[in-house]
Amino acid sequence: MAKTKKTISSSQLVEGLFALSKNLWWTWNVDAQNIFQELSPELWTKSNHNASALLADISEKELHARLGNQKFARRVDEVLKQFHTYMNNKTTWASKNAKEIKSPIAYFSAEFGFHESVRIYSGGLGILAGDHTKSASDLGIPFVGISLFYREGYFEQRITVDGWQQEHYVPVDSKKQPTELVVDGEGNPIVCQVQIGFNSVKFVARKLQVGRSLILLLDTNLSENEENHRNITAHVYGGDTATRIAQEIVLGIGGVRMLRAMGIKPSTYHMNEGHSAFLTLELLREEIFKGVSLEKAKENVIKQCIFTTHTPVPAGHDRFNKDLMTFVFERRVSEYGMTMDELMKFGSEHPEKPDEPFCMTVLCLKMSRSANGVSELHGKVSREMWKMLYPEIKSMNKVPIGSITNGIHVNTWSNNSTNRFWNDLAGNDWKEKFLEPKFWKETVNKISDEELWAHRYELRRQLIEFARRRLHLQHSRYGNGTAVYETILNPDALTIGFARRFATYKRAPLLFTHFEKILDVFNDQKKPVQIIFAGKAHPRDDEGKKFIQRVIEYSTHPNLFGKVIFLENYDMNVARHLISGADVWLNNPRRPLEASGTSGQKIAIHGGLNCSIMDGWWREAYDGTNGFSIGGDGQPEAYDVQDEQDADFLYDVIKSKIIPEFYNRNAQGIPVKWLKRVRRAIATLVPQYNTHRMVAEYVKKYYK
Ligand SMILES: *Cc1c(COP(=O)(O)O)cnc(C)c1O
Repeated sequence: MAKTKKTISSSQLVEGLFALSKNLWWTWNVDAQNIFQELSPELWTKSNHNASALLADISEKELHARLGNQKFARRVDEVLKQFHTYMNNKTTWASKNAKEIKSPIAYFSAEFGFHESVRIYSGGLGILAGDHTKSASDLGIPFVGISLFYREGYFEQRITVDGWQQEHYVPVDSKKQPTELVVDGEGNPIVCQVQIGFNSVKFVARKLQVGRSLILLLDTNLSENEENHRNITAHVYGGDTATRIAQEIVLGIGGVRMLRAMGIKPSTYHMNEGHSAFLTLELLREEIFKGVSLEKAKENVIKQCIFTTHTPVPAGHDRFNKDLMTFVFERRVSEYGMTMDELMKFGSEHPEKPDEPFCMTVLCLKMSRSANGVSELHGKVSREMWKMLYPEIKSMNKVPIGSITNGIHVNTWSNNSTNRFWNDLAGNDWKEKFLEPKFWKETVNKISDEELWAHRYELRRQLIEFARRRLHLQHSRYGNGTAVYETILNPDALTIGFARRFATYKRAPLLFTHFEKILDVFNDQKKPVQIIFAGKAHPRDDEGKKFIQRVIEYSTHPNLFGKVIFLENYDMNVARHLISGADVWLNNPRRPLEASGTSGQKIAIHGGLNCSIMDGWWREAYDGTNGFSIGGDGQPEAYDVQDEQDADFLYDVIKSKIIPEFYNRNAQGIPVKWLKRVRRAIATLVPQYNTHRMVAEYVKKYYK
């Protein structure tokens, strides 16, 4: 670092900080996050780590006082330089490996999970889209993401005294979001419109900069729209099917129109899940308008589109009945060069049944040049699931659905302590080595047992402190005693984490199937075990909410109290604490319903171990030495048989493998065998199950 003693003007830094807050690059750079936090720890916490809100609310005086400290000012200057270098780097991965992609990939997704302060995501699909966007930026791939600006986001979860989930919708203050209205050359907002039934719905776009990637968030909340149309973009997956189809018209058709209005010409349209499928109809309309035949138009659209499917759960695929489709499209179906009946066939799983609902996944599959699932097994399951669309194909393997296994954006999911740990060991380099398995194989061998174990302790301790604060807050709301939550949980105990959407197929309470046996496990004083749960159930999923309630009931059982914990309001912040602090990350879905899963991938860089059903990504990743498996590579057909069997497998692996290995200590109190497994996990998982590898694979297989 240059030993410049020149004083840095604070007004210049202020300008730089405002610019930095408007680019979500800071959400994957811990130095930048630390600077925002130190500017005002109070506002940082209050805003759920929102840099834009912090800068909007901090007083001039406080800001300049802070920046008057030359040591701090130099750190700010350093981060601003890093940011500048990043944004202007010309020798990216893509500059060597994807030169032929000159115009952007347009990536359509109903949700994006970039950061806890940008509440336009609900769960795994959104996080994946966010991580994909960040890696596209890191790798230098021209990229524009399209989604909706949800002005009340996804709900905040509060648990009642009875353990029941309540949903609270909290308005997003658009002035405190890092977004800006998209305007034309004269500075006026670009307003586009779509037709829904008899109505025209107008919308604008708010742009969000994510490193070098641009995101456009479409917003119908305009005074010139009727009330119900203003609410189309109110909530992530909000409302009934009529709202849902309206959201998907705005996303798909509106998205293409906004790109046109902005003069952006994508090289490929990537549909991340079926919600944006209507974009293919808009592209079709443009072709028909040029005067080409329907056959030729279709061909031209297919050439431009690709599709990723994300779930084998039937309810996870949007379907709209014929009445709703007719109401929405009847007046303009001729612009697609077809009749209503013909349009319905584009979304029909069984064309011989004319009154079947319109399935968005089918439209995607029919209108894409390629389609893929998100793990090998999910690819196979998808080929089976959709083979009826390809009656001419006789062999299952030939059904044109491939697979690319999901990953995570490692720098987004590593925290301060973990950054320091790897920086000390390997310098700053590790942050760019996610395509280099050799680097990780070599680097893990440089870690001593003592360092690794001390690091694990630090992370576990941080999680416990976080959990205590959260439980304290939650229980103060009930007006009960809260003192007990200040000392809850044990920083030396084997700590298991389980956090994800509380969809019933993920079977959150599976561990408690054989209740008496599991009580014995938790009652062993010499080998203490604790488990922390978190997760939201879909607002209309009462069965999922009952699962939450059951977990909370267990957490109040006299023999489990303080050892079984449920943390409310799972979001990316809660996730970051859990995935770093947990020794074991538990994942026990019904097979093969977890298409990939990604939360378990987030733990590897922190030295946690996975214990999972052989489903999704883990089926490919597990090699016997880098974590634990629940059962094998197969499953009984009947769900009740599978549940029963997996409960046994889960109990067995915890009791006979995980606990003994975690508590098998040498003279220094270190679990040597355990740490060997941790090293194997880091070396095999970090350089493979990340979004750099994933996006590079999309480039090679589908984007080029
Ligand atoms: C990673 C993540 C998910 C996805 O978790 P899975 O276990 O893959 O379903 C969902 N929600 C949040 C907040 C996450 O961080």
